[in-house]
Amino acid sequence: MTAVIALVGRPNVGKSTFFNRLTRTREALVADFPGLTRDRHYGTAQFEGRQYLVVDTGGFEPEEREGLVAAMAVQTRLAITEADAICFLVDAKEGLSAQDAEIAEELRRSGKPIYLVVNKMDAKGAVSELPEFHRLGLGMPYTISAAHG
Ligand code: GDP
Ligand code: MG
Repeated sequence: MTAVIALVGRPNVGKSTFFNRLTRTREALVADFPGLTRDRHYGTAQFEGRQYLVVDTGGFEPEEREGLVAAMAVQTRLAITEADAICFLVDAKEGLSAQDAEIAEELRRSGKPIYLVVNKMDAKGAVSELPEFHRLGLGMPYTISAAHG
């Protein structure tokens, strides 16, 4: 079985940048794995010699009820449902937002393993934002800079 990891977070936190880095590509493969919907953005990646599937998602705004953003939330929820684990990305440049807290709540309800990933650690003042993210109650965050290695 190939593990499926979904990248989830509000718009602009760097999900697609991280996706490209994990999959080492700019053009995601349209994976043909049984049981997975094709209209999301899948790519394959390797970790310690094992292949897994990464799913990029649109920005997640759980409170939106209409339009494109609501449609993205539907897609994101489907991605969460079929994932084995969630990478929840937040943005150290912007800091913790109310939206992050809403997403955290919804992810918790999914019962899936959640890895909190703080991106844009290269940004000025990023380190001082880290204690804020502990308030999400998701444990010690992983810190990355998806755009800069
Ligand atoms: P998405 O909406 O979550 O998929 O975010 P994107 O991957 O499209 O990135 C949004 C913006 O953040 C882009 O301008 C990226 O270049 C920028 N970005 C992504 N990762 C980093 C990072 O590690 N550091 C900095 N400074 N900017 C980043
Ligand atoms: Mg994106």
